[in-house]
Amino acid sequence: MQLPDGRKRHIPRCKENALDYIDTLMRRNVEFAESGFNPGLRMMPASKTLIIGCVDPRVDPMDIFKLAPGEAGIFRNVGGRVNPAVFETLGILRAVAVAAGADIGPDWNLIVLHHTDCGIKRCYCHEPRRLAVHMGVTMAELASLEIDDPYKAVVLDVEALRANTDASGCYTVSGLVYDVVTGKVEIVVPPPRSRPDAI
Ligand SMILES: [Zn+2]
Repeated sequence: MQLPDGRKRHIPRCKENALDYIDTLMRRNVEFAESGFNPGLRMMPASKTLIIGCVDPRVDPMDIFKLAPGEAGIFRNVGGRVNPAVFETLGILRAVAVAAGADIGPDWNLIVLHHTDCGIKRCYCHEPRRLAVHMGVTMAELASLEIDDPYKAVVLDVEALRANTDASGCYTVSGLVYDVVTGKVEIVVPPPRSRPDAI
């Protein structure tokens, strides 16, 4: 793979079997525990930010936003789409925050991060019924979810979050799209200046 400045990026390829790879991870963890571990991190994200993103390893928010450990809460599914499981997770997260004595408030960001060349398009072509179940919609409704266009899909997902009573009162919601070719992120749905979706 070539970077925009012409340099070649080394992408490690795993030639190990699954068990050997676990051993590799455990060796790396020993290094982390000895030299990279910060026991002072808090349960609540330091930036008061949650990011919903895709499982695709190319689009890890830790990498593309150069996040520090503990800086943001991240949860990922196929496509970074807002589905019933996302709403359930948001409800549980709020319960966790309340139990920890740090309720989520209007100064929190909730960022939906979609990306180009997402594998969810292939799923849409090959297993649309499974995808409809994942999204909690009928087959007819699935066609309106803009599965093949992350720029349109992120608008829909932000609208869904802003319309949800559990999410809209707790977060300032915005929608971004990451381009896997350039490495750049575009703000497609900016956070409202007056935070009308937050109370
Ligand atoms: Zn994806």
